[in-house]
Amino acid sequence: MPQSFLPPQRTLMGPGPSDVPERVLTALARPTIGHLDPDFIAMMDELKGLLQFAFQTRNALTLPVSAPGSAGMETCFINLIDPGDTVIVTQNGVFGGRMRENVERCGAQAILIEDEWGQPVDPHKVEDALNAHPEATALAFVHAETSTGARSDAQTLCALATRHDCLSIVDTVTSLGGIEVDVDGWGADAVYSGTQKCLSCIPGISPVTFSNRAAEHISRRDHKAQSWFLDLDLVMGYWGDSEKRTYHHTAPVNALYALHEALLILQEEGLENAWQRHARHHHALTAGLEALGMSFIVAPDWRLPQLNSVRIPAGLDDAAVRTRLLNEYNLEIGAGLGPLAGQVWRIGLMGYSCRQDNVLLCLNALGQIINEADVTIGASSGIQAAENVYASI
Ligand SMILES: *Cc1c(COP(=O)(O)O)cnc(C)c1O
Repeated sequence: MPQSFLPPQRTLMGPGPSDVPERVLTALARPTIGHLDPDFIAMMDELKGLLQFAFQTRNALTLPVSAPGSAGMETCFINLIDPGDTVIVTQNGVFGGRMRENVERCGAQAILIEDEWGQPVDPHKVEDALNAHPEATALAFVHAETSTGARSDAQTLCALATRHDCLSIVDTVTSLGGIEVDVDGWGADAVYSGTQKCLSCIPGISPVTFSNRAAEHISRRDHKAQSWFLDLDLVMGYWGDSEKRTYHHTAPVNALYALHEALLILQEEGLENAWQRHARHHHALTAGLEALGMSFIVAPDWRLPQLNSVRIPAGLDDAAVRTRLLNEYNLEIGAGLGPLAGQVWRIGLMGYSCRQDNVLLCLNALGQIINEADVTIGASSGIQAAENVYASI
């Protein structure tokens, strides 16, 4: 007989989901009300304002898509890309490849600009591609590539898109709440994110925001979007004017309470403080991991504080170590993806997971495992190195 599922208490230091704070879980457990209830509609309006705050935008077309980050990605592509369009797509990890898939499924041609995994997107290559393809209508890139831990220069890339009369489509799933995302400052046109990374909410919702330029593009469309569910013209009948909301789909009512609470927590902390906290714990973790003999695959200037990809020390078995971390320390860290599988660990410091006790837990656990294995690394120094950083910043 199946019984109620009682999940173990884990510490989540992988590529997402991150630890969800008690306040958010409590919000989730409040009574479900109707998705057209006036009280719920008032909450939806606040939620839009909180998302505008997090994205640093005044875009009216800002809302949470009722599905995970991948659906936010599709929402951007199916609403902005038409059959026959040419789109410049950059790839320096897993998620750029998914953008390319989206472009091709829209019946458009993807011009793929590749950079090595672990490197940021090279704006010079992007500029060359934009010059070579004056017919391009959009430029798509990932701000924070979760498969490698590399940040790209969103400001420069968005400016290039605008200069070449292209819409910019930006993946901020892992960046939002962890490092600066400045939608209006960048002049970005279509930006999507996720809830389960640095916002530390439950998985399954995708905040999106569209510039006026992008919104006009959508309203000028002369054919129906390929997806009924993600068609923003239809979705806005529900999320648009709060005076006359009509049924499109049933919003995930309780999940939206949770997102509202998670964004309140971010607002209480302040964006700059949240970014600073991520940077501080990242510096301590970095010192500790390096003292344990691990090296980063991303150069310091381009490292994401919330996603630390380090090479697995020789002599250690990737899967065996991660299994021990989970079973003996209730600690989850991420494996490498694609060409980095078996080569790296991805240690997340996302949102509520980004705390001193987690940094020390991780360094202690890895230090003990490294000490036991017969590899020549001074394991005890990890915690000390992190403590030294904490004492100085
Ligand atoms: C996690 C992630 C996604 C996908 O989000 P899901 O919620 O898993 O669908 C997309 N892009 C990036 C950069 C991500 O890290």
